Amino acid sequence: MDKDRKLSKLKNLILKFNKNFPGKNLVFSDGNKEAKIMIVGEAPGRTEDKLQKPFVGRAGKLLDSLLKSINLNRSKVYITNVVNYRPDKNRKPTAQEISEFKKLLFKHIEIISPKCILLLGATAAKAVLNHIGPLSEVRGKWKNIKIKNSYFDILTTFHPAFLLRKPAKIKIMLKDFLKIKKI
Ligand code: URA
Repeated sequence: MDKDRKLSKLKNLILKFNKNFPGKNLVFSDGNKEAKIMIVGEAPGRTEDKLQKPFVGRAGKLLDSLLKSINLNRSKVYITNVVNYRPDKNRKPTAQEISEFKKLLFKHIEIISPKCILLLGATAAKAVLNHIGPLSEVRGKWKNIKIKNSYFDILTTFHPAFLLRKPAKIKIMLKDFLKIKKI
Protein backbone atom coordinates (compact mmCIF):
# COMPACT_ATOMS: atom_id res chain seq x y z
CA MET A 1 0.00 0.00 0.00
CA ASP A 2 1.41 3.44 -0.85
CA LYS A 3 1.90 6.29 1.63
CA ASP A 4 -1.17 8.22 0.50
CA ARG A 5 -3.43 5.23 1.00
CA LYS A 6 -1.87 4.43 4.38
CA LEU A 7 -2.33 8.05 5.48
CA SER A 8 -5.92 8.18 4.36
CA LYS A 9 -6.61 4.88 6.19
CA LEU A 10 -5.05 6.33 9.35
CA LYS A 11 -7.09 9.52 8.96
CA ASN A 12 -10.29 7.47 8.74
CA LEU A 13 -9.27 5.55 11.85
CA ILE A 14 -8.59 8.77 13.80
CA LEU A 15 -12.01 10.09 12.74
CA LYS A 16 -13.48 7.38 14.98
CA PHE A 17 -11.68 8.86 18.00
CA ASN A 18 -13.67 12.09 18.10
CA LYS A 19 -16.26 10.98 20.63
CA ASN A 20 -14.58 12.83 23.51
CA PHE A 21 -14.23 15.98 21.41
CA PRO A 22 -17.80 16.86 20.40
CA GLY A 23 -18.04 19.44 17.62
CA LYS A 24 -14.31 19.51 17.05
CA ASN A 25 -12.61 19.01 13.69
CA LEU A 26 -9.88 16.51 12.91
CA VAL A 27 -6.50 18.26 12.63
CA PHE A 28 -4.39 15.61 10.93
CA SER A 29 -1.18 17.11 9.57
CA ASP A 30 0.53 19.67 7.38
CA GLY A 31 3.68 19.70 5.27
CA ASN A 32 5.44 17.21 3.08
CA LYS A 33 4.79 13.49 3.60
CA GLU A 34 8.22 12.72 2.09
CA ALA A 35 10.02 15.02 4.56
CA LYS A 36 13.04 13.81 6.51
CA ILE A 37 11.91 15.74 9.58
CA MET A 38 8.67 15.07 11.41
CA ILE A 39 7.53 17.60 14.02
CA VAL A 40 5.15 16.58 16.80
CA GLY A 41 3.24 19.10 18.92
CA GLU A 42 0.63 18.66 21.65
CA ALA A 43 -2.90 19.25 20.35
CA PRO A 44 -4.66 21.79 18.13
CA GLY A 45 -5.83 25.11 19.51
CA ARG A 46 -8.78 27.23 18.40
CA THR A 47 -7.26 28.45 15.11
CA GLU A 48 -6.00 24.97 14.22
CA ASP A 49 -9.46 23.49 14.86
CA LYS A 50 -11.03 26.14 12.66
CA LEU A 51 -8.55 25.81 9.77
CA GLN A 52 -8.02 22.05 10.27
CA LYS A 53 -4.25 22.41 10.10
CA PRO A 54 -1.64 22.11 12.88
CA PHE A 55 0.33 25.12 14.09
CA VAL A 56 -1.40 27.90 12.21
CA GLY A 57 -2.06 30.18 15.22
CA ARG A 58 0.42 32.31 17.18
CA ALA A 59 2.58 29.37 18.23
CA GLY A 60 2.57 28.20 14.61
CA LYS A 61 3.86 31.55 13.35
CA LEU A 62 6.72 31.24 15.81
CA LEU A 63 7.40 27.69 14.63
CA ASP A 64 7.52 28.97 11.04
CA SER A 65 10.15 31.58 12.03
CA LEU A 66 12.24 28.97 13.82
CA LEU A 67 12.10 26.76 10.73
CA LYS A 68 13.06 29.71 8.57
CA SER A 69 16.12 30.31 10.78
CA ILE A 70 17.48 26.96 9.55
CA ASN A 71 16.29 27.43 5.96
CA LEU A 72 13.28 25.18 6.30
CA ASN A 73 9.60 25.70 5.70
CA ARG A 74 6.43 23.63 5.65
CA SER A 75 7.21 22.17 2.26
CA LYS A 76 10.29 20.51 3.79
CA VAL A 77 8.88 19.17 7.06
CA TYR A 78 5.88 17.14 8.15
CA ILE A 79 3.88 18.42 11.14
CA THR A 80 1.35 16.71 13.39
CA ASN A 81 0.24 16.58 17.03
CA VAL A 82 -0.07 13.87 19.68
CA VAL A 83 -3.81 14.50 19.98
CA ASN A 84 -5.60 15.30 16.73
CA TYR A 85 -8.59 17.15 18.20
CA ARG A 86 -8.74 20.35 20.21
CA PRO A 87 -9.31 19.62 23.91
CA ASP A 88 -12.07 21.81 25.33
CA LYS A 89 -11.08 25.19 26.77
CA ASN A 90 -7.47 24.66 25.68
CA ARG A 91 -6.84 22.20 28.50
CA LYS A 92 -3.87 19.87 28.25
CA PRO A 93 -4.62 16.39 26.93
CA THR A 94 -5.23 13.89 29.76
CA ALA A 95 -2.91 10.92 30.40
CA GLN A 96 -5.68 8.68 29.04
CA GLU A 97 -5.94 10.72 25.81
CA ILE A 98 -2.17 10.70 25.40
CA SER A 99 -1.98 6.92 25.73
CA GLU A 100 -4.92 6.43 23.35
CA PHE A 101 -3.55 8.78 20.66
CA LYS A 102 0.03 7.57 21.12
CA LYS A 103 -0.79 4.36 19.22
CA LEU A 104 -2.14 6.41 16.33
CA LEU A 105 0.89 8.72 16.42
CA PHE A 106 3.21 5.72 16.25
CA LYS A 107 1.37 4.48 13.16
CA HIS A 108 1.70 7.98 11.71
CA ILE A 109 5.47 7.96 12.37
CA GLU A 110 5.79 4.50 10.84
CA ILE A 111 4.02 5.66 7.66
CA ILE A 112 5.98 8.91 7.25
CA SER A 113 9.20 7.14 8.23
CA PRO A 114 11.25 10.35 8.74
CA LYS A 115 14.98 10.55 9.32
CA CYS A 116 14.46 12.43 12.55
CA ILE A 117 11.66 13.58 14.83
CA LEU A 118 11.40 16.88 16.69
CA LEU A 119 9.21 16.79 19.77
CA LEU A 120 7.73 20.11 20.87
CA GLY A 121 7.09 20.23 24.61
CA ALA A 122 6.17 17.91 27.47
CA THR A 123 3.10 16.22 25.97
CA ALA A 124 5.04 15.05 22.91
CA ALA A 125 7.94 13.93 25.16
CA LYS A 126 5.49 12.02 27.34
CA ALA A 127 3.85 10.28 24.40
CA VAL A 128 6.97 9.39 22.44
CA LEU A 129 9.70 9.03 25.09
CA ASN A 130 7.48 8.07 28.04
CA HIS A 131 9.14 10.98 29.78
CA ILE A 132 7.20 12.31 32.75
CA GLY A 133 9.84 14.38 34.63
CA PRO A 134 10.85 17.98 33.91
CA LEU A 135 11.34 18.76 30.20
CA SER A 136 14.88 19.98 31.00
CA GLU A 137 15.91 16.34 31.52
CA VAL A 138 15.37 15.52 27.83
CA ARG A 139 15.44 18.93 26.08
CA GLY A 140 18.27 19.38 23.57
CA LYS A 141 19.36 15.73 23.75
CA TRP A 142 19.26 13.32 20.83
CA LYS A 143 17.74 9.92 21.59
CA ASN A 144 17.61 6.93 19.31
CA ILE A 145 14.31 5.20 19.99
CA LYS A 146 12.59 2.17 18.50
CA ILE A 147 9.05 2.90 17.32
CA LYS A 148 7.21 -0.05 15.83
CA ASN A 149 9.98 -1.79 13.85
CA SER A 150 12.44 1.05 13.21
CA TYR A 151 14.81 3.30 15.11
CA PHE A 152 14.45 7.09 14.91
CA ASP A 153 16.70 9.96 15.97
CA ILE A 154 14.55 12.08 18.23
CA LEU A 155 15.22 15.55 19.63
CA THR A 156 13.04 17.31 22.19
CA THR A 157 12.73 21.06 22.50
CA PHE A 158 10.35 23.59 24.07
CA HIS A 159 6.84 24.03 22.81
CA PRO A 160 6.65 27.33 20.88
CA ALA A 161 3.67 28.39 23.05
CA PHE A 162 6.04 28.27 26.05
CA LEU A 163 8.35 30.61 24.18
CA LEU A 164 5.50 33.08 23.70
CA ARG A 165 5.32 33.26 27.51
CA LYS A 166 9.10 33.13 28.07
CA PRO A 167 10.71 34.87 25.05
CA ALA A 168 14.15 34.77 26.71
CA LYS A 169 14.28 31.02 25.99
CA ILE A 170 14.50 31.70 22.24
CA LYS A 171 18.29 31.33 22.25
CA ILE A 172 18.08 27.81 23.66
CA MET A 173 15.41 26.87 21.17
CA LEU A 174 17.41 28.26 18.25
CA LYS A 175 20.32 26.11 19.40
CA ASP A 176 18.08 23.05 19.34
CA PHE A 177 16.96 23.93 15.81
CA LEU A 178 20.62 24.18 14.76
CA LYS A 179 21.04 20.58 15.91
CA ILE A 180 18.32 19.63 13.45
CA LYS A 181 20.03 21.59 10.70
CA LYS A 182 23.29 19.78 11.40
CA ILE A 183 21.89 16.36 10.65
N1 URA B 1 -0.08 23.83 19.77
C1 URA B 1 0.13 22.53 19.44
O1 URA B 1 0.69 21.75 20.19
N2 URA B 1 -0.27 22.13 18.24
C2 URA B 1 -0.87 22.92 17.37
O2 URA B 1 -1.21 22.46 16.29
C3 URA B 1 -1.08 24.27 17.75
C4 URA B 1 -0.68 24.69 18.94
